[in-house]
Amino acid sequence: MIVAGGAVYTPEGMREVDVHVRGGRIERLEPWTHPRAAPEVVDATGLWVLPGAIDAHVHGRDPGFPEKEDFGSLTAAAAAGGVTTVLDMPNTLPGVADAPALETKRAAIAGKAAVDYGLWGLLRSSSTAEQVRDLAAAGAIGFKAYLGYSVQRSTGQVLYTPGGLDPDLEPPASYGTIARLAAALAESAVPVAAHAEDPSVLLSSSARVETYADLLGTRPAIGEAVAVAAMGALAANLGLRIHIVHLSSQAGLEAALAGRAAGAHLTLETCPQYLWLTDYARLGTVMKMYPLIKTVDDREALRAALLRGDIDNVGTDHAPHTDEEKLRHPLAEAHAGSPGVQTLLLSCLELARQNGEALAAVPWVTEHPARIFGLYPRKGTIQPGSDADLVLVDPNRRTQVKADAMLSRQRRGVLEGQEFGFVIRAVYLRGEAAAPGRGEFLRPA
Ligand SMILES: [Zn+2]
Repeated sequence: MIVAGGAVYTPEGMREVDVHVRGGRIERLEPWTHPRAAPEVVDATGLWVLPGAIDAHVHGRDPGFPEKEDFGSLTAAAAAGGVTTVLDMPNTLPGVADAPALETKRAAIAGKAAVDYGLWGLLRSSSTAEQVRDLAAAGAIGFKAYLGYSVQRSTGQVLYTPGGLDPDLEPPASYGTIARLAAALAESAVPVAAHAEDPSVLLSSSARVETYADLLGTRPAIGEAVAVAAMGALAANLGLRIHIVHLSSQAGLEAALAGRAAGAHLTLETCPQYLWLTDYARLGTVMKMYPLIKTVDDREALRAALLRGDIDNVGTDHAPHTDEEKLRHPLAEAHAGSPGVQTLLLSCLELARQNGEALAAVPWVTEHPARIFGLYPRKGTIQPGSDADLVLVDPNRRTQVKADAMLSRQRRGVLEGQEFGFVIRAVYLRGEAAAPGRGEFLRPA
């Protein structure tokens, strides 16, 4: 196949070249004037040809929660949004806390996956060094600790509660869990992440929640700052690569930058919802997610940090629920999370466009996550030898986010109604259309 006549995003900048694809990989790039002899020539005239995007933070809910999402609906939404690689979080059922659970999950999702995928491993307070080593050998793309979230021993489910005295609830993983397992984690060489909101800060509030301002009071930015500072100390002192996920506040950002300045190996992710903010009066409980979307000042600090290169990647924390769970409860009880994978690429291009140069967004969702997770240069770039994951984008048409065009099982997300100055025209996964069962399991190199 040849993708012909487009403006191609390459490591050397935008180039007027054709992309020659063979066997699912990029074979070579040739000037537009080179002969176009191939069984299939795709006309990309007037379009941008970008590397397929990587969403390093999704919750596909599979196996375990098909009423919220499964890998079929997750990856259909991903492909429609130009995301050809997803890295799925480990709070599925059972949690991916050992190699057999990872293999069970692989078997459950393989036939449904329409895009390529990596799988995060779960750190429990009971995790052993052997389990960490076996998970790394099985191909875990990273390790995630849910600070403050217990695990139901009988099912292996991660629960949004610290547990307390219920003997079936294993106490949450903690900074101590990460420190105890540091040698095995460092040996694995993959990133370690935590849900970085300090549990003791969150638990100190018992205020009633009726308004969004009340909710912000129960999960303040200082909780993120404390947790990020602790993760920075773990990274600096124990030789760990720590990836801060879903950074949501200026205080958290400043803690991360201070940790970096002190020598900690920290990479930083934020999410479109924290970059766009949005309107609780309009969206209601759709907007509830943890960490919470905070203030305009937080949004501006995160935007500036992303644009100057201090934040490495944008992932979505795509976390769908049923309409019942999201919309039919008061704010205090509504479930936390929003879909996002389908709007990742276009929302990032739009944000960068508004700052002057749309293509500045491309590394946030391609090269940077590919490098962090050991997938570069197979993923995240257009160069000879890389997978032919290609997104054809029309920069002269607009897309408005509408719930009925969303393919996730939860259709209403926080970016509903936003308009982006781009349209996705075609998406190729290893040179062919994305389709259920075509997605492959990715191991970090
Ligand atoms: Zn998440």
